[in-house]
Amino acid sequence: MNALPTSPAYSAFLAGAWTQTGRTFEVHSPAMGETIAIVADCGLDEARRAAVAAHAAFLQWRARTPWDRAPILQRWGALILQHEVRLAHGIAREMGKPVTEAKGEIRYSAALAGDFAEEAKRVFGELVPSQFADKRLLVTKRPVGPVLAITPWNFPALMIMRKAAAALAAGCTVIVKPAEQSPLTALELAQLWEEAGGPPGTLQVLPTSDPAPLAAALLDDVTVRKLTFTGSTEVGILLNRHAAATLKHVSLELGGHAPYLVFGDADVAQAARDVAASKFRNAGQTCICTNRVYVQRGIADAFEAELARVTAALRVGDPLQDVTQIGPLVDAAGLRKVEAHVADALAHGAHVLTGGRALGGLFYEPTVLSGVTDDMLIMREETFGPVAPVLRFDDEAEAIARANDTPFGLAAYVWTRDVGRVFRVSEALEYGIIGVNDPIPSTAQAPFGGTKASGLGREQGKWGLEAYLETKFTSVRLA
Ligand code: NAD
Repeated sequence: MNALPTSPAYSAFLAGAWTQTGRTFEVHSPAMGETIAIVADCGLDEARRAAVAAHAAFLQWRARTPWDRAPILQRWGALILQHEVRLAHGIAREMGKPVTEAKGEIRYSAALAGDFAEEAKRVFGELVPSQFADKRLLVTKRPVGPVLAITPWNFPALMIMRKAAAALAAGCTVIVKPAEQSPLTALELAQLWEEAGGPPGTLQVLPTSDPAPLAAALLDDVTVRKLTFTGSTEVGILLNRHAAATLKHVSLELGGHAPYLVFGDADVAQAARDVAASKFRNAGQTCICTNRVYVQRGIADAFEAELARVTAALRVGDPLQDVTQIGPLVDAAGLRKVEAHVADALAHGAHVLTGGRALGGLFYEPTVLSGVTDDMLIMREETFGPVAPVLRFDDEAEAIARANDTPFGLAAYVWTRDVGRVFRVSEALEYGIIGVNDPIPSTAQAPFGGTKASGLGREQGKWGLEAYLETKFTSVRLA
């Protein structure tokens, strides 16, 4: 493969050309603290040029058939897979995810390219029965147009692929504005898209240290027809408001506050392993990570002891080592939030079963808190760190009510062996994703997204493709 142009800085990928902007910003390794790259810093000029290129490329790209676009997407997926190890190491370096987990992210990302390439071949139209004998009513699907994709740092590859692979398969073009903490993976993906034969302007990547003005310029541009955003609820609402002025299509994947309900009939050892798997992925920095654990009183002591044991055994360390299970928090603000949540819980009567200390740098011990109550800060805000607060409940109705008592609605989890309860509880939970005895429900073929303050729309599968299509009606009167 061709190496990324990195001199004097990692270039932006603009209109099919690797572009220096005359301004740069630094990317730091959260594990070691050192500067790992200097990257071209994009601003208003690059935003405007990208919008023009995205529109010009869209006019060509939408005219090609899904069979014509699919081999490019398939090659993209194959190249991503071919470079799994290198890309995973890049993720571990730029945002601190343990490399073993990062390899999983890369495989998942590659799968999306292949899945959407195939899914786009099955976008059917309809011939609607007409009340008029001389008319034929045709309904077809068209790509919405150029898309602005704004993505977070916690899955530097996956968050881009969920959006870009779907949009490109549908016939849209995409301008990616990656997170300032993790622009390098985004540029690598663009380079592989170019190598796969992606035409100039179809996929562009504009790193920036100052996202608001660049995003504003693209949101004001009427030729950009869709905003797709993954990140915090606060920023999502701000961007949604802005996108309304030009009536853009909008998809939002926002914050969560996932409850894990462990019922008295659970296999305690397995439930503890599952809660830990959901809670401590990416050091607690995924949007569907468990944020609150509710355990039925009868098994609570045994469950807490087991969860503490499993958690204490997690290996914290250098994300570049294969054996590492917990890396650093992404930045100082992330670490401060974790410390604030633990301090608040302890001040209000919770106690530490394991962990509870910062380990130097941006590392924090995987932590289990007992005696947590619903009024604590950790129960209202998304922690986005390796802390599992455990609460107790008495019956099913109480567990459901407390699980739903949040503005968020992304993911919720249940552990039970009672088939009736599986349906009663999963139907009553006001969440977009439910994991029943499954701590890792997210997969390329299934819809992903939330209710309430967790977002609008769904990604992945046919639902994720539909998000980049609009409906067109053609009435033909027979001459
Ligand atoms: P964030 O909202 O601060 O940043 C996300 C992206 O928005 C970044 O690219 C950032 O540069 C950009 N951004 C920030 N302010 C902006 C502005 N004013 N204008 C335009 N762009 C702006 O979120 P974060 O802290 O980086 O990511 C963590 C959040 O993302 C968590 O809340 C997490 O739950 C959420 N998340 C959600 C999902 C999901 O699918 N629902 C997936 C991953 C992460």
